[in-house]
Amino acid sequence: MFEPIEEKTERPMNSLHALSSSKESRYGQSFIEAFCERREETPFSTKIMEKNAELVIKNASELLTCRDDAPDLIGLVKNGWVAVGGGKIIAAGGAESVKPLISDSTKVIDASGRVVAPGFVDSHTHVVFGGSRVDEYFAKIEKLSGEEIKRRGIKTGILTTLEPTREHSIEELYNETALRVRDMIVSGTTTVESKSGYGLDRDTELKQLEVNRLLEQRLPITVVSTFLGGHGWPHDMRKEKYMDFLINEMIPLVGGSGLAEFCDAWCDEGYYTAQECGHILEAGIKSDMRPKLHEGGYSYIGGAEVAADLQAVSADHLNYDPRKSLRRLAEAGTVGTPLPGIDFAVGHERPFDPSPMIEEGMELAIATNCCPGCWCTSMPFIIILACRNHGMSSERAIRAATIGGAKALARQDSIGSIEPGKNADIQIWNLKRHEDIAYHYMTNPVAAVIKNGRITAVDSALIEE
Ligand SMILES: [Zn+2]
Repeated sequence: MFEPIEEKTERPMNSLHALSSSKESRYGQSFIEAFCERREETPFSTKIMEKNAELVIKNASELLTCRDDAPDLIGLVKNGWVAVGGGKIIAAGGAESVKPLISDSTKVIDASGRVVAPGFVDSHTHVVFGGSRVDEYFAKIEKLSGEEIKRRGIKTGILTTLEPTREHSIEELYNETALRVRDMIVSGTTTVESKSGYGLDRDTELKQLEVNRLLEQRLPITVVSTFLGGHGWPHDMRKEKYMDFLINEMIPLVGGSGLAEFCDAWCDEGYYTAQECGHILEAGIKSDMRPKLHEGGYSYIGGAEVAADLQAVSADHLNYDPRKSLRRLAEAGTVGTPLPGIDFAVGHERPFDPSPMIEEGMELAIATNCCPGCWCTSMPFIIILACRNHGMSSERAIRAATIGGAKALARQDSIGSIEPGKNADIQIWNLKRHEDIAYHYMTNPVAAVIKNGRITAVDSALIEE
């Protein structure tokens, strides 16, 4: 819990007790006011500066700038300060670079004993869906036979949530999705990618993309929209016929509508072949949607080569990619996005190995892959899994969750790091050291979230305007 600067206490910073110790102010205006001090005593406070900061975060035990060229991967600054103005970061680093920007009207947050990091960029999700696959989840945990699953009438796979997604009105779909996205925001995510692909028909795919637009309009988060008509094909249609509809009708329609920035497909045995994915992604490029590709998740059938040839922004999953294919991706500048959450959720028999990706010089992103098969909204949880289950260092995982994610969305010029000129998308953790994010299995380590310079969440509660 943040304290006003004048009232520093000896309360332990990193305990759950600290998180819950101020019940009465947790959701109230009084706490929000206490959260910020409007005046800072410095020799500069009476000067009129050319460039005054609206918001300053001071004394962070660690500031993780996550700048792209940081040799330590996270750009760590001890006792870090950040200044924000006009929704942008105007200075970041030591006290000396920020103090001159403080004026009487500057709000000052004391981040003593806490870590300050860029907002998470969750670069791979299917967060817009109706329904649930909880029955399938437990059928698999209990290792029920295929026969038994059938006898009990349990549906499996992505088509399980197709019907509810089709049947939901746009408001119903928005309301269900907004609950998940709100949870993402209070867990530190300031940008989320969101794919269609649970409709596989014209109206539902457009409805999902429209929900993406509504989410960004109504919630303090950037939503990057991806058309994933090539997620599968409907039961009642041959693949060839669906592909024809996809390439000649849907992709030009979606591209022309401006409802999606990226086009994606699923390259795996039983889904689309590498060649078919190539056709889908090329159609996307023609309609002004940059390519991304699901590939190597459950088999390897040449997806990386297609992604590299088309200079896909990212290739995602990568469980089965051979080393030479990873090298092709790295050479093409395609960001590798392995997904710790889905490997955990399905008890994957071949969890991804980041070592060859790193050795080949690939930039990595990690993401929640929030979907009915992996109901995860928390990037901190994904970092825990990336480190504990896949051997990533905390620095590698934090980078992959911030600037790596930004690169996987081609947004690295505006988000993903704390550097002057970038959007002021910042989070503060109730943790003393950055490694603690993978070591403390807390409900939510995120103390506060700042989106475009505005405080949008404090102690797991969204601040409504
Ligand atoms: Zn996916």
